[in-house]
Amino acid sequence: MAQKLLRFVSLDKAMPAKRGADERRHDFGEIYGEFEQAAAEAQAGRCSQCGIPFCQVHCPLGNNIPDWLKLTAEGRLEEAYEVAAATNNFPEICGRICPQDRLCEGNCVIEKGFESVSIGSIEKYITETAFAEGWVKPAAPPREREQSVGIIGAGPAGLAAAEQLRRKGYAVHVYDRYDRVGGLLVYGIPNFKLEKQIVARRHTLLEAGGITFHLNFEIGRDAGLAELRARHGAILIASGVYKARDIACPGVGLGNVVAALDYLIASNRKGLGDAVPAFDSGDLDAAGKHVVVIGGGDTAMDCVRTAVRQGAQSVRCLYRRDRENMPGSEREVRHAEEEGVEFVWLSAPEAFLGDDKVSHVRAHRMHLGVADSSGRQVPQPLEDSSFLLEADLVIKALGFDPEDVPALFGAPELSVTRWGTIKIDHRTMMTSLDGVFAAGDIVRGASLVVWGIRDGRDAAEQMHRYLMAKAAAEQAEAAE
Ligand SMILES: Cc1cc2nc3c(=O)[nH]c(=O)nc-3n(C[C@H](O)[C@H](O)[C@H](O)COP(=O)(O)OP(=O)(O)OC[C@H]3O[C@@H](n4cnc5c(N)ncnc54)[C@H](O)[C@@H]3O)c2cc1C
Ligand code: SF4
Repeated sequence: MAQKLLRFVSLDKAMPAKRGADERRHDFGEIYGEFEQAAAEAQAGRCSQCGIPFCQVHCPLGNNIPDWLKLTAEGRLEEAYEVAAATNNFPEICGRICPQDRLCEGNCVIEKGFESVSIGSIEKYITETAFAEGWVKPAAPPREREQSVGIIGAGPAGLAAAEQLRRKGYAVHVYDRYDRVGGLLVYGIPNFKLEKQIVARRHTLLEAGGITFHLNFEIGRDAGLAELRARHGAILIASGVYKARDIACPGVGLGNVVAALDYLIASNRKGLGDAVPAFDSGDLDAAGKHVVVIGGGDTAMDCVRTAVRQGAQSVRCLYRRDRENMPGSEREVRHAEEEGVEFVWLSAPEAFLGDDKVSHVRAHRMHLGVADSSGRQVPQPLEDSSFLLEADLVIKALGFDPEDVPALFGAPELSVTRWGTIKIDHRTMMTSLDGVFAAGDIVRGASLVVWGIRDGRDAAEQMHRYLMAKAAAEQAEAAE
């Protein structure tokens, strides 16, 4: 039998076909195609099946990567899918949008000298094959339980928890203020990274498994937390972080200086066929404009690449640190550069200039000074280094903080940290309120989809334990 594994010595790393920048600049379709079966099997066969799989250690879900690579290399795809799905509710989503270069692939043992196995693309291939073959099934609990759970937020954390709890037979109700399921998967992350039908397909499956979604339902407006607690045996708060960080610069209030998420939501909604007056009026449309995006994270990368696709005249990204120290994925920077984005490293805005709308950004050069207590070098402005950039749309992508959840939910007794994230007991994932759990960005601060899924799964397990203990206590009381 031909050697199916350890092929990294003779076979180079390959990714699925990537569309050329000239083509993809003009549409919002995903930029990578899919592996053909032979290519997926061959690439999976590059795995060295090392003794300590650092890819697995550095995957937040602890995915059994070497096992599903081996099964793929052997053409046993249904089993590969079962292994992949055992630890991950949405492997096709992680395969597309995890920053693999910082997680599994970045820690692949053969990375040193041979380039890593293309883990993310193979995970996507396995799961897309499973969908095509009809192997992906809705939750089918062995028995129905009487207790119900309420989940606030239909993002990755809430959805992963919902599926895990439904599989155990609970009546699961998910509440979300948006009109679609997916949270930032739908309204934050652009199509060219994750097409919306991928998320909609999961929505359909979760509903088919018996999960009830209450959309356009905002906790704090349509019900308070107390009302929800009265309805359900346990509650999970997975409401994400949405308060945009601002920048203290003269002129920040000028027209066409906009928040990243407003800009991305408008673009995503437009793509979904919704009416978006602020886009149609041109305020949130980059077409024909000189665009300056401020920030260096994933959100900034999504903004610059969206602006390119909307037909901006020029797109620049201003970031106060250098390329090596940016929080965004290196892979995304490469994609953006290929698509024509100009990065202005070590630069920060001083002022936004213009009459009623912005016309220029005055920026200054920075250098990286001594490291602070977190170990990161602090950027400091260089004297007399100001320069002007033409800009008729400025997008602020400086990160997100939590909203005031206790006030919004009418629950002042809900404890939060000094950053406003919800405080939990990390062993039980319970908040300061009995039977109220929390997971995802609202606990960690802005993070990653894969961490949201992990937290949602962990919270579901803890909620299950809590509900079983509660049911046992009620039974014992009734028997007395
Ligand atoms: C632009 C952008 C790009 C990103 N790109 C990536 C990427 O490429 N890869 C990656 O791994 N991560 C990425 N992330 C991060 C990732 O999207 C988040 O870490 C993840 O979505 C967090 O999941 P969550 O379930 O905690 O919250 P969310 O996805 O934010 O979901 C929270 C849900 O709660 C709902 N909600 C909030 N308040 C209420 C309320 N009062 N009542 C009812 N419902 C409420 C919201 O409507 C939302 O649907 C990106 C984030 C952004 C903003
Ligand atoms: S979930 Fe993300 S980190 Fe884990 S194996 Fe998949 S792509 Fe890698």
